[in-house]
Amino acid sequence: MRFISTRGQAPAVGFTDAVLGGLAPDGGLYVPQDWPTFSKAKIASFAGLSYAAVAAEVLGAFAGDEIAPADMRAMCEEAYASFSHRAVVPMVQIGPQTFIAELFHGPTLAFKDVAMQILARLYDHLLGQQKRHQTILCATSGDTGGAAVEAFRGRQNVKVVTMFPEGRISEVQRRFMTTTGDANIACVSVQGTFDDCQAILKDAFQDQALRQAVDLAAVNSINFARVAAQAVYYFTTAAALGAPGRAVNMVVPSGNFGDAFAGYVALRMGLPIKRIVVATNSNDILARAFSTGRYVRGTVQPTISPAMDIQSASNFERLYFEGVEREATDTARAFEGFAKTGVIDIPPGALGAMQAIFTGVAIGEDETARTILATLNETGELIDPHTAVAVAALRHVDLEGPTVVMSTAHPAKFPEDVAKACGVTPDLPRGVASLAGRAECFDRLPGDAETIKAYVRAFSEG
Ligand SMILES: *Cc1c(COP(=O)(O)O)cnc(C)c1O
Repeated sequence: MRFISTRGQAPAVGFTDAVLGGLAPDGGLYVPQDWPTFSKAKIASFAGLSYAAVAAEVLGAFAGDEIAPADMRAMCEEAYASFSHRAVVPMVQIGPQTFIAELFHGPTLAFKDVAMQILARLYDHLLGQQKRHQTILCATSGDTGGAAVEAFRGRQNVKVVTMFPEGRISEVQRRFMTTTGDANIACVSVQGTFDDCQAILKDAFQDQALRQAVDLAAVNSINFARVAAQAVYYFTTAAALGAPGRAVNMVVPSGNFGDAFAGYVALRMGLPIKRIVVATNSNDILARAFSTGRYVRGTVQPTISPAMDIQSASNFERLYFEGVEREATDTARAFEGFAKTGVIDIPPGALGAMQAIFTGVAIGEDETARTILATLNETGELIDPHTAVAVAALRHVDLEGPTVVMSTAHPAKFPEDVAKACGVTPDLPRGVASLAGRAECFDRLPGDAETIKAYVRAFSEG
């Protein structure tokens, strides 16, 4: 399988280089040259397989002959053994046709573990083969950092520097990153927003000298392997609800658009998805884009669903590229322009193609809190604020048939806001309860690319 850049100025690469490279050298994102597809019979067969077996099928379709199927299967088995629920992604029913897919049974209690656990094993495997060492630079809105630290801690071939926006993430989120004590992990509290952290990441990736000096890698959802690994639970949940015989709707709490785009990937691979609802908090750039056709950066407002406090959704570039029928010149012009002006006018044809699949809904803070309470009262389920944004979105759309709501975090990751909304303080599951007592280690730096790049270089070479 070959991967091409959305901006058309970088050579096509194989799976290994797409995974280890992260961002393409022309600033674009890697996408598969052709979408691999599964037959209806194959998709139906997923209903009888373990999660790890489906993951090996989906990832194997992108890895092609670069990873032996037995190795892929072994890595998937090991990755998903780290989850505390045997189903890996179990579902609970909250309405006649409505199900919550619990993506939070991994070691750091958020859906980022689903992709990161397998990604760390892919890195180990591929870097070991090439006798190569890399430095992963990660920008996190709260959960990616913890998942990356947990997945990559103590690994021989990688160092990890993770940047988080100061004061914008919960204590539990921060502690998952800062308390491991492993020598290959560094955490930076950046004076700025998540979008600032993401801009610094992009800047670092465009600095060829730094890239080469430290062999820079990215595990944000700009990394296609992340997105591919997230497509897996669209297959497992839909197959459990009768796909491919029945089409399924998906409701996804969204920030950087990696998760919702993974649904689109599953669709392109043959999964009958009727509609993907992109649920945002008041940072509604995606919701506005799908309804108005203008993708316009706003100012980031802090919310009780901080992992979605994003006004520049990097995976949107992949969808735009598909929307303009893979016109790389158009995509490059649009996103280079966006970096300067903060605006993209989506061409009508592309917008129509997007609207045929996606609906955007933005949910305010009061409604999010009220939804946590109502869901507890009506179903007995305690949900986190991100999941609540998606559950609230159900009321604003008209969906027919089975519907899966992606539950992206355990409520105990956001105990204060959940308690404020419904009066119940969620307990941390056994195994992570000791987090509060451990010493934290992180550095505070200004939101300035040069300062952080120097820090990355020093840590990598140290
Ligand atoms: C990252 C995250 C999201 C948003 O996912 P994207 O792929 O960035 O759209 C939603 N909820 C939680 C809990 C997250 O950690």
